[in-house]
Amino acid sequence: MSRLTVKDVNFRKRRTLIRVDFNVPIDANGNITNDFRIVSSLPTIKKILDDGGSVICMSHLGRPKGSGYEEAFSLKPVRERLSQLLETPVLFASDCVGPEALKLARELKPGQVLLLENLRFHKEEKDNDPAFAQKLASLADAYVNDAFGTSHRAHASTAGVCDHFEQIISGLLLEKELIYLKDKLEDPLHPYTAILGGAKISGKIDTIRHLMNKVDNLIIGGGMIFTFFKAKGYEIGASLVEEDKVELAKEILEAVKDSGVNFLLPLDVVIAEAFENDAPSSIVDVDEIKPGQIGLDIGPRSVRLFADVIRKSNTVLWNGPMGVFEMPNFAKGTEMVCAAVAEATANGAITVVGGGDSVSAVKKLGFSDKISHVSTGGGASLELISGLKLPAVEKISEKS
Ligand code: AMP
Repeated sequence: MSRLTVKDVNFRKRRTLIRVDFNVPIDANGNITNDFRIVSSLPTIKKILDDGGSVICMSHLGRPKGSGYEEAFSLKPVRERLSQLLETPVLFASDCVGPEALKLARELKPGQVLLLENLRFHKEEKDNDPAFAQKLASLADAYVNDAFGTSHRAHASTAGVCDHFEQIISGLLLEKELIYLKDKLEDPLHPYTAILGGAKISGKIDTIRHLMNKVDNLIIGGGMIFTFFKAKGYEIGASLVEEDKVELAKEILEAVKDSGVNFLLPLDVVIAEAFENDAPSSIVDVDEIKPGQIGLDIGPRSVRLFADVIRKSNTVLWNGPMGVFEMPNFAKGTEMVCAAVAEATANGAITVVGGGDSVSAVKKLGFSDKISHVSTGGGASLELISGLKLPAVEKISEKS
C-alpha cells in the first residue's frame, strides 16, 4: 500500500489548496529570521505550477488568540519572502475565508500563487469546525497536505477540509517524513537501535512502551535516567527527578526484562555542584552520586557503550539530548552520540532524528547531512515513533 503524492497527479488547470507549514520565526521588525520552512515547501509548490496548475497556500503562524487579526502573527512577511523565492508575485488574501479569498481564488490563473492570511486568526481552525473547513475547501478543486509539523492535530485545514475532496494528496515534504518515520521504522532493518533522551519520562512513556517491543536496543539518556536510577534505589543527589514516575520507572525496568530488548542506561554521569555551565564538575559512576550533586550529562564510559551499539546498528532512531547540551560543558554526551549516529549512516544504516531538541543538537553540530533523515516535526514525529496514528496522515489517499 502506498500513499498518493503530488508526483502521481497532474495538476493542469487545477486550483490546488496546499496546507503548508509557514510557521517561521519573525523578529519585532517583521523580518523572517529563518526561512527554512518556506524554502522546504518550494518543490511541492513548483511541481503543481510546472504542471500548469495554480496554488493556494494556507498555514498558521504562531499562537494568535483566535479572535481575529493580530499584526504580530500576520503572514504578510511570508508573502514577500515566498515571492522572492518563487521569483513571481504572490497574491495575498487578508482573511483565509470570506469574499476576498473566494474572489482571488476563483480568478487565479495557471502558474499563479495565492497565500491566505493566518488560519489561526479564526478559532474554528483549531476547533476543526466543519463550516470553516467547508469554506476553506470551497476555494479549490484539489487538496495537498505538506505540513508534517501539524499532522498530529485534527484541525480544519488538516482534517475537516479532507471531507470535501475526493483525493487527499501528500506533498513531497510530508511524504519524505512518512517514508522515514513511518515506513522505514515500521519495517526496520535489524539491528534496530532507539536512543531516547530529553528531560522527562512523562513525555516519552508511550514512546518507551512502543519501542520496547520493536527495537533490539533501547538506549536511555538525558534527565529521565535519574528517575530510573531512583527506581533502582540509587542516590541521585539534586538531579532532575519525577517523583510521581518512580513507580512507573520500576514497572518499565521489570517489563524490559521480559521483552528481550537490550535496555541500556548510562554507566557513568557528569555531575556538577550547580545547574550552571561553569560549575565545578566531575565524572562518577551512576551509583556513586552524592547528595546535592546534579547529573547534567552522560559520562565517557556510557558514551563508549552507547556508541558501540549505535555503530553496529542498521537502523537508528534518536529523540532527545543525552544531557543539558545547551551548556557547552555538558554537551559532550550528546555530541558523541550524534557523531556515532553519523558514523552509522556512513556505514550504511538508516538513521532518523525525530524532532525537538535532538534536531537542534544535530544542526548546531553541523551533522544534518550526515543523518538519513532529520525530522521537521517535534510533536508529530514523537507521536509517529510512539506508534500513534496521525489524524492528517490517516486521511492521505492510497495510490490506486
Ligand atoms: P525534551 O524536550 O524532553 O526532549 O527535553 C530536552 C531538554 O532536556 C533539554 O533542554 C535538555 O537541557 C534537558 N536535559 C537533558 N538532560 C538533562 C539533565 N540531566 N538534567 C536536566 N535537564 C536535562
